[in-house]
Amino acid sequence: MTAPSAETKMQFLFALRSRGVTDPLVLDAMEQIDRGHFVRGLFAERAYEDTPLPIACGQTISQPSVVGLMTQALQISPRDTVMEVGTGSGYQAAILSKLARRVYTIDRHARLVREARQVFEQLHLPNVTSMVGDGSHGLPEQAPFDRIIVTAAAEDPPGPLLAQLKTGGIMVVPVGQSDAVQTLIRVQKTETGLQYDELRPVRFVPLLEGIGKDT
Ligand code: SAH
Repeated sequence: MTAPSAETKMQFLFALRSRGVTDPLVLDAMEQIDRGHFVRGLFAERAYEDTPLPIACGQTISQPSVVGLMTQALQISPRDTVMEVGTGSGYQAAILSKLARRVYTIDRHARLVREARQVFEQLHLPNVTSMVGDGSHGLPEQAPFDRIIVTAAAEDPPGPLLAQLKTGGIMVVPVGQSDAVQTLIRVQKTETGLQYDELRPVRFVPLLEGIGKDT
């Protein structure tokens, strides 16, 4: 992998800003984490385009502007513990690691977790812990979390994840019945209950049950 040129980097950040990623801390984290590390093979040369790309196991690395908007919606502070469901390439988790104290990320495909772990090591991101499992049950042993991000689409925000969110916490999750388009939802847990906001239409691979067969 070769580092992107200054011009490529500038265009990448410009695309993020023009699509609404304006939080300077999020932009800074996205400038620090080179997406080229997370895209392999044929698609590597397209790593700096604002588009989702295929990764192993029939999954996708999300579109950078969507990664930015979801991260921005989480309003992470440096002391937060964040859980991500859907490690995929590890790109989103790496960005979270620059903003939060601790990141737990889980994926149902062992191969994706193995490959993402290698990149976390290479980039020296010791505050990311990755594991293999069905993330729809969350991580009861590490709970509760200040922030939760789900990067696969669910029909409803999974109950166990809502239960593992701290009061005052925020969760973002794509929700919808259809494979074609879902709505990105932000859930805030307050003293008096859950408050839901619809953020924007998005397109994610589905949140599936159980452990995946690696391909
Ligand atoms: N955040 C990723 C992209 C996620 S793609 C990135 O930055 O690259 C969605 C991921 O969710 C896939 O890797 C898929 O294997 C995973 N996934 C789907 N259902 C899951 C579940 N129940 N538990 C854990 N991971 C799941």
